[in-house]
Amino acid sequence: MGTDIQVLPINSWGIKTKKPIVIAGPCSVENETQIWETIQALATHCSEQVHIIRAGIWKPRTRPNMFEGVGEKGLSWVKKAAQSVGLPVAVEVANPEHVEQALKHDIDILWIGARTTVSPFAVQEIVNALKGIDVPVLIKNPINPDIELWIGAIERFVASDIKRIAAIHRGFSMYEKSIYRNPPMWEIPIELRRRYPYLPIIVDPSHIGGARDLIYMLSQQAISLGFDGLMIESSIDPDRALTDAKQQITPWRLAEILSSLPQTKPFPADKESSHLTLLRDRIDIIDDCLIDLLKERMGISKSIGEFKKEQHLTLYQPERWVEIVNRATEKARKKGLSDDFILKLFQQIHNESIQHQTQVAADNNQAVQSSLNTI
Ligand code: PEP
Ligand code: MN
Repeated sequence: MGTDIQVLPINSWGIKTKKPIVIAGPCSVENETQIWETIQALATHCSEQVHIIRAGIWKPRTRPNMFEGVGEKGLSWVKKAAQSVGLPVAVEVANPEHVEQALKHDIDILWIGARTTVSPFAVQEIVNALKGIDVPVLIKNPINPDIELWIGAIERFVASDIKRIAAIHRGFSMYEKSIYRNPPMWEIPIELRRRYPYLPIIVDPSHIGGARDLIYMLSQQAISLGFDGLMIESSIDPDRALTDAKQQITPWRLAEILSSLPQTKPFPADKESSHLTLLRDRIDIIDDCLIDLLKERMGISKSIGEFKKEQHLTLYQPERWVEIVNRATEKARKKGLSDDFILKLFQQIHNESIQHQTQVAADNNQAVQSSLNTI
């Protein structure tokens, strides 16, 4: 693995786009009128702002007996409507049969859904079905926060004949309650970007947020973080949508959101760059101090480990951990730092301390073991 992934940048995909690239359309195609009117409204309200139409034809539903998409007939409806406004169409494919039908109807772009990316067998079957075919493929992250599984699916396509590849970040399913349907865990797409700087990453605020009200904020965050584009669910009558009604927005709301996205660029203009350098220098100094302090803290932790060993005390003492967390969160709260941040930070620090202390105990056990061996 490394930074040598061979993919074509989106501006050479033969699709008219501008950064950010925007993919929009309903969660599902429901009938011919709905998809026709939605696409016409997108073309009218978001002309130039939307570059690709999305539409679900086969819907992966959690429970049986729910609306599972209109199937093959929907392909010709969406293709016809998108062609009338000169836009390419992307649909989700989950098996070789979907691939065959989508290609038969000249669908321009395929995407792999989150529930498919989790299965290497399913991904490989789709890769095999695309042998010798040159169609762009977008790969959503798996539903669980596993970057290796996401990369594994991407690598299967990279190793095939497909060269127009992008990743879609749609958030990760979590057991804990959250304001998000699928919390973004931005560190994961950021790590994907670090590993593969040339792989385009499109963010799907609809499935991350799961709620209309969150789309604007998440889209802003995605663009501020420097991701390449957005996939947003939009339909003519979101309240009556058969799937994902709560998160879909109207084409006119989409136009408002797209018009007020921040303008970002990766590098500052010359005159602003010295200011940025100054601030970054200060951050570097603080980071150096943090590292020195952490080193010192681990040293003390080790000494505590020695003491616990001598006194035959257990390494992990829950009351002490509670005391550390309470003290830190209380103090940090007064300084405007969130409990969640401090808890996560101290969990890492405390785990590392325990590791150090375990090492002290293990060194001792080893010494006992080797002296026993020599008896
Ligand atoms: C969708 O895009 O409508 C969809 C089902 O998304 P995901 O695979 O991200 O859940
Ligand atoms: Mn959806």
